[in-house]
Amino acid sequence: MRKLTADYIFTNNEAPIHQGVVIEENGKILDILHSREGVSDLETFEGFITPGFVNAHCHLELSHLKGVSDSGKRLVPFLLDVVSKRDMDDKIIMDSIAKADQEMREEGIVLVGDISNGSDTAKIKEQSSILYHTFFELFDMMRETPDIDASLATKISDFEMMPSPKSFVPHAPYSVSTQLYEKINNLNPEGVVISIHNQETLEEDKFFIEGKGDFRKLFETFGAELPANIPVGYSSAQYWSKFFKEEQALCIVHNTFSSAEDIKFIQEKFPHAYWVTCPNANLYIENALPNYQLFDFERMAIGTDSLTSNWQLSILDEMKVILKLNAYLNFEDVLKWATINGARALKQDGFGSLELGNSPGINLIKNVDVEKVAIKKGSVVEPLN
Ligand SMILES: [Zn+2]
Repeated sequence: MRKLTADYIFTNNEAPIHQGVVIEENGKILDILHSREGVSDLETFEGFITPGFVNAHCHLELSHLKGVSDSGKRLVPFLLDVVSKRDMDDKIIMDSIAKADQEMREEGIVLVGDISNGSDTAKIKEQSSILYHTFFELFDMMRETPDIDASLATKISDFEMMPSPKSFVPHAPYSVSTQLYEKINNLNPEGVVISIHNQETLEEDKFFIEGKGDFRKLFETFGAELPANIPVGYSSAQYWSKFFKEEQALCIVHNTFSSAEDIKFIQEKFPHAYWVTCPNANLYIENALPNYQLFDFERMAIGTDSLTSNWQLSILDEMKVILKLNAYLNFEDVLKWATINGARALKQDGFGSLELGNSPGINLIKNVDVEKVAIKKGSVVEPLN
């Protein structure tokens, strides 16, 4: 049993506790005390104690592509880089996956929503202390296939190799046919959480509304015909939302260019939808960030995206970027995005708060501004268990 104390304890169940104590055994929260006075055998730290971080959007299997696509190229050229350069020696791919998993553990990340296109990450996910929800991603460039079951056979056997929890998910609005949305819904059991990339570039709405722009070029490069229903005349979010029932649990990823109208529409239609922001990736690819003021903060979670579109896999670093560029937000708000909201988005109630009886991971954030209850540029995280 350990008794941990720091300048502030953030449980996510109540206001931050000044000089409180967390009592834990092998990671399980046994008690939270509101004062350290008279408590023996204390381990005293400088900084903040928080629940383990949740990375709600990652692509572990793309870890070997770090630096392969230059920053600032915009989404469609970035996607073309990923597709054309992702094949590499198996050992390089596997070593990069193991290293990325280790990086996340060292950064205090305990739960990850991870996109997979194949089974490369299965072994690491089984061995890691991180709990991964695999979002097994399907796409067909909006082109229907005569025998969809035969065309999905390999994907389904790869999916079966992945440890649970897992679900089939659509890649993005511009890459999934009506037939494939229906298939995904049929393959997934009721109540499972799915994800979708959404409005990561202005070009996405341009494609759905007018049938123009970079995505037209993407279809031409793949030798694919422009889908018959494009343009649909309305936004991408309005389009993909038609394929899901209101009770669908969703991690909607990026939303960098989502309009106030679309955000309101999605929040009203899907009570179990969460917005996953990946600020560093948005800056890396599009050099832009979402206008967070438009979103319901209770439904915001944070992702790192892949090492292909980021400099590191660190939720603390994503929090620093959000706070630096959005001074109306405070550390306590954004910590919820990084912990409990991510856990709720992934439907993993055992994570995200220092709740008695749970084992949510315990982080120490060091080199903080205690007076302002804020993190600083030089703040670092150290997992305490
Ligand atoms: Zn992604």
